[in-house]
Amino acid sequence: MHSIDSATDSAPGSLAGEDDDLDQPTPSAVDLDRIERAVREILLAVGEDPDREGLQQTPARVARMYAEVFGGLHEDPRQHLRKFFTQQYDEVVLVRDISFNSFCEHHLLPFMGKAHIGYMPNGKVIGLSKLGRVVEVVARRPQVQERMTETIADLLEETLGAKGVAVVVEATHTCMTVRGVRKPGSVCVTSAMKGKFRTNQSSRSEIMTLIYADRR
Ligand SMILES: [Zn+2]
Repeated sequence: MHSIDSATDSAPGSLAGEDDDLDQPTPSAVDLDRIERAVREILLAVGEDPDREGLQQTPARVARMYAEVFGGLHEDPRQHLRKFFTQQYDEVVLVRDISFNSFCEHHLLPFMGKAHIGYMPNGKVIGLSKLGRVVEVVARRPQVQERMTETIADLLEETLGAKGVAVVVEATHTCMTVRGVRKPGSVCVTSAMKGKFRTNQSSRSEIMTLIYADRR
């Protein structure tokens, strides 16, 4: 795994026992000690006492959380797109309501919502659950919603050679609800259209109708 090399510059043994999910190679690529020190600094900087009882475990807990929520940085989403079926199927495949959680890279605050992925196969069909895996890997990185949407669409276009790919992402950003403009309930919608969904108006209308059918 490519995560090995970055593990060498964190203190050896510092990760032992930190992580109970042993199948996950990811956290070893993340410098937990460094995050802990940084979180302690933040607590001091805002005027807290990081040594009071309630906060003592916070830096370590936050470090483990970051290793988890940013674990997608050390994974290649293409690994979930390698196994496909050869199938002559010319109609649209759509998976709606793939829920995800991500973190906005501007504030490191969560944004969460749903992704809808549609594609027009060109002889290659992917297992439906794999689409969810791809969303998961891409979401577990510091993100902006626009790039996340675009990245998922590019990955599918590239690996499946699909005739068309449509990705629509709807999300609520906590950086808009807990701070700044404080607009709870607002939903940000982004879309990326590739191939036929980009060039052909009726294909695009079809996929949007499918995505939004029987809703509201
Ligand atoms: Zn933000």
